[in-house]
Order: sequence, then structure tokens, then C-alpha cells
Amino acid sequence: SKPVVAIVGRPNVGKSTLFNVLAGERIAIVQDTPGVTRDRIYADVEWLKYQFTMIDTGGIEPNTKDIILSQMREQAEIAIASADVIIFICDVMQGLTDADAKVADMLRRSKKPVVLVVNKVDDFQKYQADVYEFYNLGIGEPHAVSAASRLGIGDLLDDVVALF
Ligand code: GDP
Ligand code: MG
Repeated sequence: SKPVVAIVGRPNVGKSTLFNVLAGERIAIVQDTPGVTRDRIYADVEWLKYQFTMIDTGGIEPNTKDIILSQMREQAEIAIASADVIIFICDVMQGLTDADAKVADMLRRSKKPVVLVVNKVDDFQKYQADVYEFYNLGIGEPHAVSAASRLGIGDLLDDVVALF
């Protein structure tokens, strides 16, 4: 069967936007309000000679007492468990947060291959130094992308399929 790629990260970092770009369709709902994607959403993706199943998740907010946010985290944990490769997204505009570091720890414990994405890099010149900060997560090279402007997507997919 096809490899499974799960997209995880905190709410509002652009998971659903990236999912829709990779799926080539507007399947997942993109929203300014965190907490819209509560369920896992699936799409089949083709890149070069590779085919895989991609999962969008509602997001992981560590250490929350909020019921919806903890349900979203549960869905993300299920997605991580069933994934062969994980795309972990952070947001360059918000910068590296404690919550990102906690999600990174959780992914390390999963022992799955992780591709680190720093999204919302709409202007590479402007954000270059901010992208390098994400090396501090200790999970490898950050891939600068702008899901909204479809920048950096090809390089990202090349590195994802290389892990199958
Ligand atoms: P999710 O909660 O992680 O699924 O995030 P969404 O995909 O719903 O996006 C949250 C917000 O970030 C929306 O307002 C998007 O339009 C915005 N967004 C997503 N990708 C980008 C990007 O590359 N650049 C900028 N500037 N905004 C983005
Ligand atoms: Mg979403």
C-alpha cells in the first residue's frame, strides 16, 4: 500500500493550506480561527513516480485543557502513529515557540522520519535569519516554504519522497 504522510503542527501554522496545495485541490478548510480541522482529512498525492496518502490534522497544542484542542491533539497523535513520514510545520511569522519545541519532542519520541517545514516565508530575503532559528528544534534542516504563494513546494516534496 501507499506510504502515508501526516501534516502536523500547532493550529494556524498553515497545515490545511499546504495540504490543499499538495493535493492540488481545495479539500481542507483554511481558516484564521484555530481549531477548524478537528478530524483527519485524507488525499492521494502524486509526485514524480511516487504516490502517497496525505493526512491533514487539526493541530497539536501541547498542555491544553481546552476540550477541542485536546481532541485535535488526539487526532494528530493517531495520524502520527499511522504515518510513514511526518511533515512538521512551524510559522516563521510567530517564530519558534515553546509549543513547537514540545511538538518536536513528541515527534522525536515517535521515531518516525520528520521533515521540518517553516511556513509563511512569503519573502525569503526578509525571513532568512528567522528560518535558521528553527535549527534549534534539533530535528534537522528547516524547509522554508510559503504555502499561500506556493514557494518551496517542489524541494519539500523531493525531500519527503526520498524518505519512503
Ligand atoms: P492550520 O490551522 O494549520 O490548518 O492553518 P490554515 O491552513 O487554516 O491557515 C491559517 C492561516 O494562515 C490562514 O489565514 C492562512 O491563509 C494563513 N497562511 C497559510 N499559509 C500561509 C503562507 O504561506 N503565508 C501567509 N502569509 N499566510 C499563510
Ligand atoms: Mg487546518
